[in-house]
Amino acid sequence: MQIYAIPVLDDNYVWLIEGCNRQCAIVDMGAAAPVIAAVEARGLTPRAVLLTHHHWDHTAGLADFLSRFAVPVYGPTIEAQSWVTEPQNDGDTFSIPEVGTFQVIATPGHTRGHLVFTTEGAAFTGDTLFSVGCGRLFEGTPEQMQHSLDRIAALPDDTLIYCGHEYTADNLRFARHAEPDNPAIQARDAEVEELRRTGKPTVPTSLALEKRTNPFLRVRAQDLRDAICRHAGAASMTDAAAFATVRRWKDDFDGLKPL
Ligand SMILES: [Zn+2]
Repeated sequence: MQIYAIPVLDDNYVWLIEGCNRQCAIVDMGAAAPVIAAVEARGLTPRAVLLTHHHWDHTAGLADFLSRFAVPVYGPTIEAQSWVTEPQNDGDTFSIPEVGTFQVIATPGHTRGHLVFTTEGAAFTGDTLFSVGCGRLFEGTPEQMQHSLDRIAALPDDTLIYCGHEYTADNLRFARHAEPDNPAIQARDAEVEELRRTGKPTVPTSLALEKRTNPFLRVRAQDLRDAICRHAGAASMTDAAAFATVRRWKDDFDGLKPL
């Protein structure tokens, strides 16, 4: 299995998974033209599209792609627009011939029905887990999102994380602000600066690296937890309250409207 990044729109990634005999599957479809071009350039035959969630920047290319390649579409049951032909739920497993077998993890928080797909040491995390960040809470609660991230964090540490956006450099600004003394964040910052300078993707990342650098996987780490409590003016707080605080803290830091 080989996995390729196809950059689409401003900062989205579509993931192209090449299996045996030039068969492939595609994760998310923010735009069709770059995906069709990549498929044709490699002489691949698409067998399926996997959708992590319903947002337009993950689905806008679907109609055009399906008119060119009529393949099944695996996606969330509870966000099942007409284009999802193979609705998936938490714990489901499905196989795409000559590409691979995929496990489904429901990860509500960014949207109600968001799914993560895992296969052979890879996790396609959409807008749930980013490198050094996580998705904003558009349809779910902080408790749901934290539980979803805990489910991903329970995968093996060497799992490679293929996420839906190139947000790593921006996310590192907040990570440095929240945890200025974390040497893993400083090292990741230097590495990402070099990757971006040479126009390379900063993903996939590994779960082990995310556990050392991603504030949203680190709310139980003592230094960050102390900083979160100081930020909230609280002597102590629950894990869920700490997660909600760090999510709001980053939204404020990024200049976005607080949720
Ligand atoms: Zn989204």
